[in-house]
Amino acid sequence: MSKTNTGEKFLGDLGYKLGPTLGEGRFSKVKAATSDKYKVPLAIKLMDRRRVTPDFLYKFLPRELSIIRKIRHPNIVHIFELIEGCDGLVCIVMEALATDLLKLVQHLGKLPCVPKARDIFGQVVAALRYLHDRDLVHRDLKCENVLLTADGHRAKLSDFSFSKEANSYSDLSTTFCGSAAYSAPEVLMGIPYNAKMADVWSLGVVLYVMVTGFMPFDDTSVRRMPQQQKKGVKYPEELPPLPEPCQALIAQLLQFSPAARPTVGQVAKNKWVKKEVCVTKPSPEISGEQ
Ligand code: ADP
Ligand code: MG
Repeated sequence: MSKTNTGEKFLGDLGYKLGPTLGEGRFSKVKAATSDKYKVPLAIKLMDRRRVTPDFLYKFLPRELSIIRKIRHPNIVHIFELIEGCDGLVCIVMEALATDLLKLVQHLGKLPCVPKARDIFGQVVAALRYLHDRDLVHRDLKCENVLLTADGHRAKLSDFSFSKEANSYSDLSTTFCGSAAYSAPEVLMGIPYNAKMADVWSLGVVLYVMVTGFMPFDDTSVRRMPQQQKKGVKYPEELPPLPEPCQALIAQLLQFSPAARPTVGQVAKNKWVKKEVCVTKPSPEISGEQ
């Protein structure tokens, strides 16, 4: 493909060797890469300004590039370099991770609530808290955008293509972003929404998917989804009951009314997330394993 070859030649001249494709999006291709400059395995997200929609070119791409330049957190994928070619090619050079959360859930069916799901969830919460504290919103939180190291211990949030600055509570978003399955009802209904609260909803969907292996709402009809979401989340009968604190947290995050949802700072202080929930008497062995 000429598009990829252009990238290969351009990056090759800069000392990058491209490997297999790791993932593909609507306007991007992510390729494995190596270079002498950075000794770690790399992933390069390639985008071609000439082949994207005006919305993407003038709105989303500039926001993504501006935001990834200023964020740095252990639970956010590390960006080494941004390279822009004169022919419209944009390359985001980042650390490569082994897999993403969707693939892990698909591979395992579902994740054990503790410690696995809770540990990953806690790290996604830390990343989101970092963003919200800086008045940045992600707007595309989903399992595919949570990358994982090979040992599965470290989770890193990625894909800032829909992220933006949201300066205050009155700064409402109107753009439909992300994937319907993870979207809050107000986003689906086209109501101007507080993007931080919509991110918190998506966080609830991510947690539900991890611990059940199912999507909480049927997204075959986006129009009908808000009705389902209003009724509250249900669990497949064939699944053993989840620990009560985990279920309670999912219910809090997936509240229909945005104002009723906790802030991500409050989620970080949740006892289940902080591993402070004990069954009866606190004991070092069982503490946090409820
Ligand atoms: P898009 O905006 O097109 O969704 P993403 O940045 O989410 O692009 O990348 C698409 C996919 O590529 C991801 O879901 C993931 O599977 C893979 N990917 C992206 N970045 C990396 C990375 N740093 N390491 C490994 N795989 C990655
Ligand atoms: Mg993505």
